[in-house]
Amino acid sequence: MTRPLLPVASPFELAFEFGRGSWLYSQSGERYLDFASGIAVNALGHGHPRLIRALKTQAGKLWHTSNLVRVPEAERLAQRLTEASFADVVFFANSGGEANEAAVKMARKHHSATGRPERYRVVTFDGAFHGRSLAMIAATGYAKYLEGFGPKVDGFDQAVLGDWQGLDALLSAQTAAIMLEPVQGEGGLRTVEPEILIRLRQICDERGLLLILDEVQSGVGRTGKLFAHEWSGIKPDIVTLAKGIGGGFPMGACLATREAAKGMLPGSHGTTFGGNPLAMAVGNAVLDIVLDAGFFEHVLEMAELFRELLVGIQRQHGELICDVRGAGLLQGLRLHGDPLELVHALHAERMLSVPARDGVVRFAPPLTVRPREIKEAARRIQAACTALRGKSGSRQSRPGKPEAASSSATLGLRP
Ligand SMILES: *Cc1c(COP(=O)(O)O)cnc(C)c1O
Repeated sequence: MTRPLLPVASPFELAFEFGRGSWLYSQSGERYLDFASGIAVNALGHGHPRLIRALKTQAGKLWHTSNLVRVPEAERLAQRLTEASFADVVFFANSGGEANEAAVKMARKHHSATGRPERYRVVTFDGAFHGRSLAMIAATGYAKYLEGFGPKVDGFDQAVLGDWQGLDALLSAQTAAIMLEPVQGEGGLRTVEPEILIRLRQICDERGLLLILDEVQSGVGRTGKLFAHEWSGIKPDIVTLAKGIGGGFPMGACLATREAAKGMLPGSHGTTFGGNPLAMAVGNAVLDIVLDAGFFEHVLEMAELFRELLVGIQRQHGELICDVRGAGLLQGLRLHGDPLELVHALHAERMLSVPARDGVVRFAPPLTVRPREIKEAARRIQAACTALRGKSGSRQSRPGKPEAASSSATLGLRP
C-alpha cells in the first residue's frame, strides 16, 4: 500500500485509539503495555486527568499570541525551571532539535559577545543524538543521518568519550563548547559516569568553554531527579529539554546561566510557536506533578525494581542478552543479535519498546508506572525472550562474550 506520508519512518503495523496510564488500546480492543511512552515523551502516561484539564482549560481561553506580547504562563514556567535548576533564563522552543539549535547558537554568541568570535566549534561524542536539523545531524555525527544531505555543517568535532587524549587533540582556539547527553538515548543507553562529567566540567572551566548538556531524553525526572546531571553535582552552562517536559504536547526548552546567555539580545533568535500558551499550560501542569512530594522516590523505586528484574532476565537469557543498560526509567537490554527481533517478539506479547543503536532495546515506561506493571513488563519480556530462543533453537547458543571498551554500558574509562 502506498501512503501519502513521506516514507522517512517505517512504522510497525500497529495503531492505537486511546490510552490510559501505561496502556494503549487499539480499535479492535487489544491492550498493549506501553514501555515506549512515545519515545520517552509521555512522562505521565496517557490521559493524565491533570494534563487533560490544563490543556482543555487553556484551549478554551487562548491558544497563541506570539512573542509580540508577554505570555504569563511562559514566565511562570521559566521561573519554576530556573528555581529548580542551575539556570537563570529559559528559551522555549517546540522540539528537542530546536532547543539544541538554540543552545549551540547561544554558545557561539556567548564567545562572540566576549570578544572571541573565532570560537564557534562544538565538540560532541560518539553515540550522540542531538536531532535532525542540518546542524544537529552534524552534531550527531552519525553517517546514516548525514548521507546525501550535502556538506556537513561546519563547526562540529566528534570525540570518543573517555579518550582524554583524543579530546585534547580536538580542542582548539576555535572551540566554543562541549556538548553531550548524560545518558545517551538513541545511541544505545550508555550512561556517562559522574566522574566523566566532573572532568569535562573542569576542562571547560580551564579553557573557558561552555558545557552544554542535552537532557532532551534524560531530563524531567527520567533518572529519578529533575535533571540527570544532578547525579554528578556539576553545574552545566546550558541544558536542553523537550520530550518529557510537555508530557506529549510538543515543546522544548533551552535553559542557561545568565553568563552563558549574555550574547542573546533582543532580535538575536526567535520562534513563532515556542512558548505558546497551550504548551506552557501543559508544561506547568507536568511540573506540578513531577515536583510533587514523593514523585522522584516513586521513579527510583520503580527503576530499582525494573533493573533487578531485567538483570534476572539477562541471567536466564545470556545467549540473547549481553548487557542491561541505562539509568532510572530509561533502561534497556543490549542484545547479541538484532534488537528488532525482540521488539517484534514483544509485540506478540502486546508490549511496546523502542529500538536504539548499538543493539539495544530501550524501555521508557511512563514515570507514573505501577509496580504491578513493571512486573507485568518483566513477565512479557521474559516470554518474548523464550519465544525468540524457541525460534532460533537450531542456532548455536553463545555464552555472553566480554564487551569491547567502546561498547561498555558506561561511557569511557575512568579519568
Ligand atoms: C529526541 C532527542 C532529540 C531530538 O528531539 P526532536 O524533538 O525530535 O527534535 C535531541 N536530543 C536527544 C537526546 C533526544 O533524545
